[in-house]
Amino acid sequence: MRGEGLVRLGRYWAREVWECFRDLLAAEQFRCPFCWSLFPDQPQVEPSLPREGFWFPQAGCPGCLALLPFVTPPFCDRCGRPLRQTASRLCTDCRRYYRFFVVARAVGVYDGALRHWIQLLKYGDRVEIAAGLGELMAELAGRDPALAGVQAVVPVPVSPQRQRERGYNQAELLARPVALRLGLPVITDAVLRVHGGTPQSLLSGVARRRNAFGLYEIGRPAGIAGRSVLLVDDILTTGATINEVARLLLKAGAAEVRALVAAVGVQRADWQEKDDRQGYLEGIQGMKRNCR
Ligand SMILES: [Zn+2]
Ligand SMILES: [Zn+2]
Repeated sequence: MRGEGLVRLGRYWAREVWECFRDLLAAEQFRCPFCWSLFPDQPQVEPSLPREGFWFPQAGCPGCLALLPFVTPPFCDRCGRPLRQTASRLCTDCRRYYRFFVVARAVGVYDGALRHWIQLLKYGDRVEIAAGLGELMAELAGRDPALAGVQAVVPVPVSPQRQRERGYNQAELLARPVALRLGLPVITDAVLRVHGGTPQSLLSGVARRRNAFGLYEIGRPAGIAGRSVLLVDDILTTGATINEVARLLLKAGAAEVRALVAAVGVQRADWQEKDDRQGYLEGIQGMKRNCR
């Protein structure tokens, strides 16, 4: 009697497990790298998304993609940083400092959900996030004419010590899907990071430029000599790191350097100034009018 019960229980569990497997196989579900929820593995076409025709084969679930603060025009012609005024085609930094890269482009603004995901990727061991962000970057690399014609992909290197601690270089994880989509090699030894240095995130603008200088050196330049290089990183804040690595790539013989990042930081001078003050003043004027 007792044996029969056990057999029935065994059969019940076997059926449950089988049904779970069958459902998973039949639905061809895909796990969102950002929130871990399952959703049908189909192209996500969102007509409301800002970049027309932007298509996400396997980047993430529609809910997460709706949270992503995409970069939309107008943005700086040179570094891809969003601008609020269209009077100038370049941001304050690109007008002020020499840039060794031809252009830089970013998927989104370093804010909200994107900021959270990048921090999880860098400090929370959530490596699968790189797959989602990498897909979005690959999509941008394949579509943006400013990035067309590149011949090799180079991730911004991290120091050997940081790589040992973290177990991976997040820029390299982002560079892999981009290179795969474009059918290009990933070259990791053209430029090397030689010193640990102070993390750029702890420094201000001028200090970042000074700090970036001397942190990197040319490694084995054979793979990039004479080629148009796509430099990949997670964030572009002041552009100091990308500029320094681009300078060394050119010194090592690269024909030109373009850059692609997951997120770009907005610059207050180009983002918050006049427009906000204007709106504020108009608001005050309106209140005064209404009070009369
Ligand atoms: Zn999700
Ligand atoms: Zn710029």
